[in-house]
Amino acid sequence: RLEIRNLERQFGGQRVVRGISLQLQAGQVTCLLGPSGCGKSTTLRIIAGVDQQDEGEIWIDGQMVAGPGVFVPPEKRHIGLMFQDFALFPHLSVADNVAFGLKGSRTEKRLRVQELLEKVGLLRFIDKFPHELSGGEQQRVALARALAPRPSIMLMDEPFSGLDNRLRDGIRDETLTLLKEEGTAVVLVTHEPEEAMRMADEIALMRDGYIVQRGAPYNVYNAPVDKKAAAFFSDIN
Ligand code: ATP
Ligand code: MG
Repeated sequence: RLEIRNLERQFGGQRVVRGISLQLQAGQVTCLLGPSGCGKSTTLRIIAGVDQQDEGEIWIDGQMVAGPGVFVPPEKRHIGLMFQDFALFPHLSVADNVAFGLKGSRTEKRLRVQELLEKVGLLRFIDKFPHELSGGEQQRVALARALAPRPSIMLMDEPFSGLDNRLRDGIRDETLTLLKEEGTAVVLVTHEPEEAMRMADEIALMRDGYIVQRGAPYNVYNAPVDKKAAAFFSDIN
């Protein structure tokens, strides 16, 4: 479980994140949705621990991981990450990429790698290298790698934006199925209303560093909080 309280972040006097609060439950997908520059990636980086807030607190499973005088480094937060430039390690096989963050015996690791590659439909590529895979296949390996250590929380920043439209829908659906099976809580960042509508259990609509509206996708879509929110959703077809 993830809880964020009143995050604040500024860069050179510009307040980029202004009082963001969120709570996430296991197995739920929350979308941070909003236009370019509204502070989505900054919020995500702070949750991941690769950037630090100026104010506010982050709690994971009842433990404060960032707050006054507290900073737990990224690798100790048990968070899975999947960003747009999700680069696999080019010199490692698919199997070794997925096994990278895993602990345990060789057999345990091998089993987990096989289980995940099977789930993403890529078991036959287990001994291939990233350059032998298409973009969509690499994306699925990246998903398997992020989920392998069973993170309770997964942070995804526009993870599908590098894919062509035809591939994207399929991979979105597969990703969602897999995340639900694994019971992972997800924060998904996107600037596309359509993606949020498709994937989110809850949408947090952001503007200028704030969350301006929050709710189930259809509620946010059907009852936008103001004209700007309505306009933002209006180009879904
Ligand atoms: P996009 O949809 O384009 O990815 P975003 O909502 O993810 O946008 P952020 O990357 O969080 O936006 O950036 C929010 C604002 O903070 C932008 O104006 C950006 O220029 C600024 N910003 C982000 N990181 C830094 C930094 N390290 N130093 C200075 N300014 C920054
Ligand atoms: Mg961004």
